[in-house]
Amino acid sequence: MAFTSEITRAFIEFCSSFQPKAKQIECLEHFLAGRDIIAHLHVGYGKSLVYQIIPKLLSIVKKDEPQATLLVISPIIQNEQIETLKKYDVKACRLSYHECDGEVELMEKDMIQNIAEGEFAIVFAHPEALLNTFSGKDLLSKRQFIDHVKGVVIDECHIVKEWGEEFRTAFQKLKTLPAVFNDVPFMALSGTLPTSLMKELPNILGLNNPVTVQESPDRTNIFLKKLHKSKFGDTNEIYESIFKTECDDLKKDPYNYPVTMLFMPLYYISQAAAYLKHLFGDGDITTSCYAVLFSRQDKVVLKTTVEELQMEYPQIRLILTSSVAGMGFDPPSVMRIIHARPPRNLSQYLQEIGRAGRRGQNSSAILHYNKRDIAKNIPGIQEDIVQYCNNEETCVRELLLKPFGFSKSQGIANENCCSFCLNEDISKLDEAGAFDNNV
Ligand SMILES: [Zn+2]
Repeated sequence: MAFTSEITRAFIEFCSSFQPKAKQIECLEHFLAGRDIIAHLHVGYGKSLVYQIIPKLLSIVKKDEPQATLLVISPIIQNEQIETLKKYDVKACRLSYHECDGEVELMEKDMIQNIAEGEFAIVFAHPEALLNTFSGKDLLSKRQFIDHVKGVVIDECHIVKEWGEEFRTAFQKLKTLPAVFNDVPFMALSGTLPTSLMKELPNILGLNNPVTVQESPDRTNIFLKKLHKSKFGDTNEIYESIFKTECDDLKKDPYNYPVTMLFMPLYYISQAAAYLKHLFGDGDITTSCYAVLFSRQDKVVLKTTVEELQMEYPQIRLILTSSVAGMGFDPPSVMRIIHARPPRNLSQYLQEIGRAGRRGQNSSAILHYNKRDIAKNIPGIQEDIVQYCNNEETCVRELLLKPFGFSKSQGIANENCCSFCLNEDISKLDEAGAFDNNV
């Protein structure tokens, strides 16, 4: 295909240690050909790199357009990402917002003119900052800015529908953007995109006959396990039995405790944190073997935890978290993900278990559930996660992948697959054993 040598060169010039992957190259080829793209690349594939490299690529392919801007719309923008890009010589900024007296206001008003003049190669924007604030709308009306924008990326696009229908209505307005930037390619990216949503996306985002680039979301180094928890009795006791078991195991042997993220509702996180304090005493995060993460967590705790989890053998072994804090958090050392209850849908589940095994290490994902967790009256609960929990006659991996249009990868042994396949294997062995005895 065209542009292969330019793309290879862009990767080398951006960072010579990155080896471009097939689907990253495919996305970039379509982008340069001016096509709209929907890319479904699993968590850990290197989805962000696809757009981070675009300014470098454009500077190689279109030498006459030195001030090209890539607009990246994302529900979550990490300051670290902007700092990292600086290291690769990519000038980036973010547009965020705050609410004041019922009005949504742009935080970075003083940067609008510089952005319009093409000073930044990548402009990250929250949908609200761009589409709901006066200054954001002003930027979108500037001819100068429109001329500089050579591509638009909608990151985490699986959230657009869900959030647009619920509380962040600016997501619904994203479909107006192709009319503003009418001759540049749009790229919608996600790590978890069910086939049903993929079909709806062109309409939701106003994309023009997009090509689809997909990589199977199957993470073959993650063993999948479903566990019944009691449906009777006190909810408190049920959660307690889950977090206490983990905390006690951690206390027994922190060095051999697998690095684990335990997802729980916020209320029980604080209970578990109190229990950990009781076990380990007062201490600060720099000497602790556990961390508690939630959306408004202290910045020092968050930074220390993120840094520690970059290590191959981090001191922090147990991370208590709610689902919100799990997003955009990318720790390579995690070996186990435990959910004390199912998230509201399978996309979120796939996204969250994708935090394990990022270095390719053998990992596991354990889901505790009962009938109460997946009752029809749970706000926002979706059918795919209900099916995932309820179906006990199928390989768990197949159940997880089917809504995304994939089957389990070839050659995965039963003992590495899931609790269903493993148990089936054991029962077959039992049968074989019984037969032998009879002989
Ligand atoms: Zn299986």
